[in-house]
Amino acid sequence: MSGDFDVLIIGSGPNGMAAAVFLQQKGLKTAVFEQSDLPGGGAKTMEITLPGFKHDIGSAIHPLCFDSPFFKTLPLQDYGLLWVHPDIPYAHPFTDGSAYACYRSIEETAAQLGSDKKKYISLFNRLVNDWPHITEDILGPLSFPKHPVKMARFGLNALMPARYFAKSNFSEEKSRLLFYGAAAHSTLPLTSLATASFGLVLNILGHKAGWPFPAGGAGKITEALTGYYNHLGGEIFLNHQVKDIRELPNASVYLFDITPRQLLEIQGTRFTESYRRRLSGYNYGAGVFKIDWALSDPIPLRSEVCRRAGTVHLGFSAKEIEHSEAAVHRGDTADSPYVLLAQHSVFDTNRAPSGKHTGWAYCHVPHGSTKDMTGAIENQVEKAAPGFKDCILHRTTHNTSQLEAMNPNLVGGDINGGKQDITQLYTRPVASISPYSTPDPRVYICSSSTPPGGGVHGMSGYNAALRAWKDHFEGK
Ligand SMILES: Cc1cc2nc3c(=O)[nH]c(=O)nc-3n(C[C@H](O)[C@H](O)[C@H](O)COP(=O)(O)OP(=O)(O)OC[C@H]3O[C@@H](n4cnc5c(N)ncnc54)[C@H](O)[C@@H]3O)c2cc1C
Repeated sequence: MSGDFDVLIIGSGPNGMAAAVFLQQKGLKTAVFEQSDLPGGGAKTMEITLPGFKHDIGSAIHPLCFDSPFFKTLPLQDYGLLWVHPDIPYAHPFTDGSAYACYRSIEETAAQLGSDKKKYISLFNRLVNDWPHITEDILGPLSFPKHPVKMARFGLNALMPARYFAKSNFSEEKSRLLFYGAAAHSTLPLTSLATASFGLVLNILGHKAGWPFPAGGAGKITEALTGYYNHLGGEIFLNHQVKDIRELPNASVYLFDITPRQLLEIQGTRFTESYRRRLSGYNYGAGVFKIDWALSDPIPLRSEVCRRAGTVHLGFSAKEIEHSEAAVHRGDTADSPYVLLAQHSVFDTNRAPSGKHTGWAYCHVPHGSTKDMTGAIENQVEKAAPGFKDCILHRTTHNTSQLEAMNPNLVGGDINGGKQDITQLYTRPVASISPYSTPDPRVYICSSSTPPGGGVHGMSGYNAALRAWKDHFEGK
């Protein structure tokens, strides 16, 4: 590495790479420092079970990436990013063997919901139409909305606890269960304020964009971002854990794709005591227990609807999901946890050797838990797919501390860079008009610990880079 840089980015997750690409596109001299021997943070694909079986170590299903306002502007297809759209975004099986699904079509989805049909159509027709007008506000820092009426329409629904939203909008248990499957992505009890927002956004995206994933795995998102970044002249230094800003080459600005607890440990920053205190008060959320399977056959899901979906949510009654997510927040786990299951190889044959398959799943667990949830998760899959356990050739599991050992951003197994409750959804990491800035004018935070939070969308990185660009370089 030679000479001084305009900007150094620490961490090569989707947000770090979004920031790096944006600033390099602006003609600045930038470089990325990454502690791991592979770039990508949460977006990586590796053979961690048997040879030839490609598993997404972190993120697996990518509506947020596919529909990201920043990523959509990049020529990522020229760098190998191809999207696979399963027939159905997500499905939810029931104990009687039937299933409901979130289809691309609002009408087709509503047609399953019996007496809730009309309500679903009017709600989602409006929200999907409003979405393009409110996306920028939802995916940016807190500010006065550009379309206040549309934003209010979304916000009034989104602020509700998922349980209250489901009860007041849907009269049928199965309709509520379908909504719960998406809302429980929040990693919060469904009685928490604003958990409805997760169900709404994920359903809006299901209808608007689908729930696609990259052919070949999440690592292809990273390969495309790093390929384009290198093409623009950016450099990435792997196996370099940054502990002290003063060890790095000179730069005007440093963007940290890490979470508040890690940022506090970085030496050489010039933070005020009061900022340090505020950062130390940042809350991390529940963790996940993750399983990747190498399978002899496709997951033998009983319902044909489930077999056509990329993602399947498991939780066999509204009470079961409510109990599972509430238990996690009491520091406990449920015997029958809510499970997120993905079956890439059914739609992307390159994920496994010919005729063989992969499976990806996780459930929520208490922050820092090392409890082995293999049995509980596999029992849930078996209920929806009798014979599943007989298909397992090999499994690799990761508890919260194993996840954190792989990627220090996964503090206590929290995959969202911090709790995404009402107190931290838009005031992450601290309440501020510019949450990406710090009292050290050289230092910015650009990880999912800033708005809009968890997920592979790159918008935290883009927002932070835009702030840094305006503060230091624009017009100079
Ligand atoms: C099991 C799991 C499942 C998920 N499923 C999905 C999903 O299906 N869809 C979705 O959209 N999102 C999903 N996510 C969330 C998504 O992966 C994250 O929200 C996203 O990766 C956050 O991006 P980031 O750039 O903020 O941080 P990260 O992706 O965590 O990247 C941070 C990077 O910084 C590096 N780093 C940390 N400290 C240092 C240091 N001191 N010096 C140098 N480098 C450092 C890390 O090694 C890492 O590469 C999942 C995550 C996990 C773990």
